[in-house]
Amino acid sequence: MRPNSLIELDRDHLIHPVISWKGHEARGATVLQSAKGATLTDAEGHTLLDGFSGLWCVNVGYGHESIVEVAAEQMRRLPYATGYFHFSSEPAIRLAARLAELAPGDLNHVYFTLGGSDAVDSAVRFIRYYYNVTGRPTKKHMIALERGYHGSSTVGAGLTAIPAFHDGFDAPTQLQHHIPSPYPYRNPAGDDDAVVIAASVAALKAKVEALGADNVSAFFAEPIQGSGGVIVPPDGWLKAMRETARELDILFVADEVITGFGRTGPLFGCEHDGVVPDLMTTAKGLTSGYSPMGAVLMSDRIYRAIADGAPEAKPIGHGFTYSAHPVSAAVGLEVLRLYTEGGILENGRRAGERFTAGLRRLSDHPLVGDVRVRGLLAGVELVTNKAKRTKPSPDLGISGHLARFGYRNGVIFRAFADDIVGFAPPLCCTDEDIDTLLARFERTLNDVL
Ligand code: PLP
Repeated sequence: MRPNSLIELDRDHLIHPVISWKGHEARGATVLQSAKGATLTDAEGHTLLDGFSGLWCVNVGYGHESIVEVAAEQMRRLPYATGYFHFSSEPAIRLAARLAELAPGDLNHVYFTLGGSDAVDSAVRFIRYYYNVTGRPTKKHMIALERGYHGSSTVGAGLTAIPAFHDGFDAPTQLQHHIPSPYPYRNPAGDDDAVVIAASVAALKAKVEALGADNVSAFFAEPIQGSGGVIVPPDGWLKAMRETARELDILFVADEVITGFGRTGPLFGCEHDGVVPDLMTTAKGLTSGYSPMGAVLMSDRIYRAIADGAPEAKPIGHGFTYSAHPVSAAVGLEVLRLYTEGGILENGRRAGERFTAGLRRLSDHPLVGDVRVRGLLAGVELVTNKAKRTKPSPDLGISGHLARFGYRNGVIFRAFADDIVGFAPPLCCTDEDIDTLLARFERTLNDVL
């Protein structure tokens, strides 16, 4: 192997997730070298304002020395402790207890994973186990939302309803079903809140009836759909779906991998509607991307039923070598401390208000059809005719185009579904960061117009 430039080595050897492999060979990578606060620096010395917190995960922002210190200290003292058998470690115990304290309702039991996809898979496995040991083994079908994203593992990708995650990989199994997304801007019956909520409730009921309630295990939903284009449901939607799931005798799983940890204002997205799910999946902001970790939070009722229903002498066979990794757990504890005692949540709420007001001011731009924003999570849907809400032709690849122009203008945001761009700036953003981000986005819109 010739010692080529980093970009050449990347092209020749590193397979990137969710990218056209051929397109990447032609275009090459942007190699990131360092970061501080909300600003990244690439290998060529360009600085970029990170309007996406990496991949909606670096919620506390970059360069927190206190996180580096706890990770280094934990590596020195005990770099690894299995959670298998009856072993445990202090950071994992303390992080589980802290999450139980902070999470809504009786989500008091925590199963640590390595990220969001295996958190979703773990939730699915535990739900199967729950129904099997409580004498309802036919409850196997799962329902999720169109445009939903629940990871890239085999089961999670089946719950996901974004074409690129299915095309060429074979269809999801027969057990995964989807109902329409609560998407006010493109709801066929109009964007009135009550209409959108009623349509989702009716769709869930119809799907459960079609499959038979005895055959359906759970409804999975993101409190705000992220990768599907930042679809913000009307106030009250989550509560209505939670209550409908209870009525239909199916479990409600909130996938808070993006919405958790202050992204939308409160610590968890469910809090917006005062909802307590049966299970919650989290990752990303849990460790703010400083170290990989995810978690499934389980209610007292589900936990107790599994613990009591499982055969006494047999292990419940679900685990990962790196479950409850002590270094990630130590990082998670420090990240939680920064949210709650280090002022990050507070700052995120303030920055979210400024960001929301600024982004809404861009609604008048000729390319902007819809601005969807809650806290520091936003989607901007682009149109070619505002009055008719005309989608740009997919051939234009307009959102991808914008993201590339944005990069040239020193700002990172993401393109979704050909016509939507998404933002998720770090919660540590200063007023100046927010204003710069918005100004650079506006300049980018004008460049593309
Ligand atoms: N669930 C949701 C809602 C997500 O947004 C993601 C990732 O973006 C996942 C699950 C998968 O998480 P991970 O990429 O950590 O496997």
